[in-house]
Amino acid sequence: MRITTRISLVLYTLEEIFKYFVLIEGDKLIIKNVISPSLIYYLEEVFGRSLEVVYRDVNEICPFCNSKLNKNGTQKFLLNKNREIRKQKYVCSNKSCVKYFTTSLDGFIYKGRNYMKFFMLYPVEQSSIAYKPFSLLSEELNHKYNTRIRRETIYHYFRLNAREYLDEVWEKIYDDLEKAGIEASGVYHYDEQFLKIRKEQLARLTLLDAQNHMIWGEKLIPVEKFNQESIKKFITDTMHNKPLVALVTDDDNKYPGICLELEIIHQLCHFHKMQNLMDEINKKINRNNRKIKYREEKLKKIQGQIEKINKKTKNKKGRIKKEDKKHQKINNKRKKLKRESRTIKQELRELKDYNKQLTYYKDKISLMFKSKTLKTFQNRYNWLLDHKKEAPEEIISYLNKLTKKIDKLTNHLKYDNIPSTNNALENFYGVTLKESHKKKYKTTEGAHLRIEFEKQKYIKRNVLNQKQEKEKITVI
Ligand SMILES: [Zn+2]
Repeated sequence: MRITTRISLVLYTLEEIFKYFVLIEGDKLIIKNVISPSLIYYLEEVFGRSLEVVYRDVNEICPFCNSKLNKNGTQKFLLNKNREIRKQKYVCSNKSCVKYFTTSLDGFIYKGRNYMKFFMLYPVEQSSIAYKPFSLLSEELNHKYNTRIRRETIYHYFRLNAREYLDEVWEKIYDDLEKAGIEASGVYHYDEQFLKIRKEQLARLTLLDAQNHMIWGEKLIPVEKFNQESIKKFITDTMHNKPLVALVTDDDNKYPGICLELEIIHQLCHFHKMQNLMDEINKKINRNNRKIKYREEKLKKIQGQIEKINKKTKNKKGRIKKEDKKHQKINNKRKKLKRESRTIKQELRELKDYNKQLTYYKDKISLMFKSKTLKTFQNRYNWLLDHKKEAPEEIISYLNKLTKKIDKLTNHLKYDNIPSTNNALENFYGVTLKESHKKKYKTTEGAHLRIEFEKQKYIKRNVLNQKQEKEKITVI
């Protein structure tokens, strides 16, 4: 039984591990060097007392002559700079070899270091799961292992290992993508997001595959360099050697020119177009609602005043005598109030009707966007144009703007596999850089790395796992 790597332990049951590799003799804990020192902390917690720890070589055989090694005292080692353990020393039993050895913990601790490798990888591993401040990561380790690792050390470990960790994951991801047969489809979502790091404004440009949700390209550039030319360059660089057929974007005036130059189909996001309309309409509806509220309160007041007058003059019926000046004055006031209340009621009707009209047309426009065929879309669009004259002015101006873009709003019905919205990319942004995290990063590199961690998570979950799910379903 010669064990050289940690992996081989997987073949053992927990019972066997305690039989072969971990021995407890009274207060003495003897561990073979294939077992992580993390176990010391766990066992001490379980036993509720500290243990004297001796690490021994798992084989106890001379690597030069294969002879048995004889024990030859122990050597102190300060694990994690705070925990004294001992390493078994050996001498080869073969008289013609006589080599000296000390148990090596290289599997868990880098040569010449005291902290476990695990500590050094902890910041990166945790960051790959979710955003955590470095101060919190150092607190977690210090609490669990009774150490005093500073936030700066954690940051240093993070910087030291992040790139390598990410690259390893990327290698695996690209390998898995190839195995799963995921290729660029030709139809992509494009959008950008803006973030601020210290005083620098950055634009994050993204291309997401409309078919398989793979992120084919992402780039952070300073806002000063963000323009039609740089977007175009980003797209052509990213899609170099890959099919480029159509782009789904929101309605920004930089995009049509790019699509024209690249000779590709341009689809405008319906969700954004609907959002534009809702913004306009809601502004008006809210303003009208405020007016309605004000008028309803005023009407109530006037009606109260009329009622009061009516009560006062309850017993005086019929014509009022000319000489009854006091009564005449009251009567005039009542007339005036009634006139006022009629006007307010008319205004209320108009305001409510206007809001109703806005909602009516909004629903018609929404229905048009939901059309499943080009013919239905065109019919609904034509109906709107025919009834435009009677519509509220907000609707008229919206439809006028829409007319110029109607082609770009129907490409999803003319061609296969073009989505009608940019929601997939909106969702990606929401997941990979939350609004509340946008201002947290102190360096561009920090933001880059966070985005990269999140992107890898996103691809594993939404591209690779999605593919597997689909395959499972088709098998059933
Ligand atoms: Zn030897």
